[in-house]
Amino acid sequence: MPTLPLEKTHPVTPPKNVAKPKTAAARADRVQRILAEFDKLFPEATCALHHKNAWQLLVATILSAQCTDERVNKVTPELFKKYPTVRDFAAANQAELAADIRSTGFFNNKSKSLIGAAKKILSDFGGKVPRTIEEMLTIPGAARKTANVVLGTAFGIASGVVVDTHVQRISLRLDLTKNSDPVKIEQDLVKIIPEERWILFSHQTIHFGRQICVARKPRCGICPLDLLCYAADKNLAG
Ligand code: SF4
Repeated sequence: MPTLPLEKTHPVTPPKNVAKPKTAAARADRVQRILAEFDKLFPEATCALHHKNAWQLLVATILSAQCTDERVNKVTPELFKKYPTVRDFAAANQAELAADIRSTGFFNNKSKSLIGAAKKILSDFGGKVPRTIEEMLTIPGAARKTANVVLGTAFGIASGVVVDTHVQRISLRLDLTKNSDPVKIEQDLVKIIPEERWILFSHQTIHFGRQICVARKPRCGICPLDLLCYAADKNLAG
């Protein structure tokens, strides 16, 4: 496992068994403490997908489905050179575009989404990525996760919480939801996370999921949330 800078500031300690909070006040206090720890860990967390504008971020986010951000960041520089504008994507040959994005996986569906998204943005939104969640959700390939990423990161608009695989897993582990459906998880999160925190919380949780609360064998021994966490799959071996 690569050595992370976090290990310097968070030495390994034996993870603890922790009891659930019993009252509504204790549960609310726990959420505040989780947010405070996230702020200490990742004060400036932001989206890892490289982009220069909202359209490029929409393209990168569509490509990132079932693919790592690192892989997407390797593909997009050449892609945006070949197709510099929304109009270029709308006019693209689908088979050729699919070949251009092949290494991101699901390239046939993704190429259809990209061309469909470009055409929709040209026909309905004057060539500009729209700024409301309702409009974003009419764009091919843009479900709530994608819409929240683009609105939050490109425009600073808090339309909701991004629920990707990391946010899904961590929300369950931290008992911020009982649901496994992303839409229901988002509905639970927006009730307990203050609106002004939605954008940052999304990025912080994704960073946390990549670096500490990983899917298999979470790194509970260096986790600053240890004393707040009673996850059933907590890694008590550290
Ligand atoms: S890393 Fe471990 S202690 Fe930290 S939130 Fe995840 S499961 Fe809980």
